[in-house]
Amino acid sequence: MDKKLRGRPRCSALEDTVYKPRKVGEEVVKCPVCGADARLELYIHNAPIPGPVLIMTMRCPRCGYKFRDVSFIEEGGRPLRIRIRVEEPDDLNTIVFRGPRASIRVPELGIEITPGPAHQGDITTVDGILALVHDHVEPLCSSLEDPEGCRGFLRRVESFLKGVVAEPITVEIVDPEGISTVYRSKKRNYVVEPLEEPFTQPR
Ligand SMILES: [Zn+2]
Repeated sequence: MDKKLRGRPRCSALEDTVYKPRKVGEEVVKCPVCGADARLELYIHNAPIPGPVLIMTMRCPRCGYKFRDVSFIEEGGRPLRIRIRVEEPDDLNTIVFRGPRASIRVPELGIEITPGPAHQGDITTVDGILALVHDHVEPLCSSLEDPEGCRGFLRRVESFLKGVVAEPITVEIVDPEGISTVYRSKKRNYVVEPLEEPFTQPR
């Protein structure tokens, strides 16, 4: 079966998902019904509809609560960049799925956080990403070209995390596999762009 498929043009990132969903993440979350620890699993699946989909499943081992949700992946498995604009505290509640190979970029700082080889995809919020960026960047500020600008940026991040409106921030998710997606957002505070060369520096 594999041999037959070899000659067909298709996205390499999705090679192993042609027939079965591929697991791209897993995390322990609280069951919304009884509060027990339950495992949330994330899969990418090439369903017989245009483009791959992200599937989330959860089953609580204590009460049996089941959850399953499916969302579309915008660029369908091609390298992509998601730019999320953070202009007001509500933007922090935007929920994203960050693929296992996706890095985070903050263009205002010229900083990129790449995932480790063992990184699994995760469901996170924009404030979760900003908190991660803050923790990564804080010890680096003094060694950057513009330490004062860096500290100013951190103060902006802190204001947002405290729910105070500050100067806008852009958070980018750059995913060579193209499976990252904005899972839930109250408004269109983001753009998804195809990316031909995912590893080049931003212009
Ligand atoms: Zn439960």
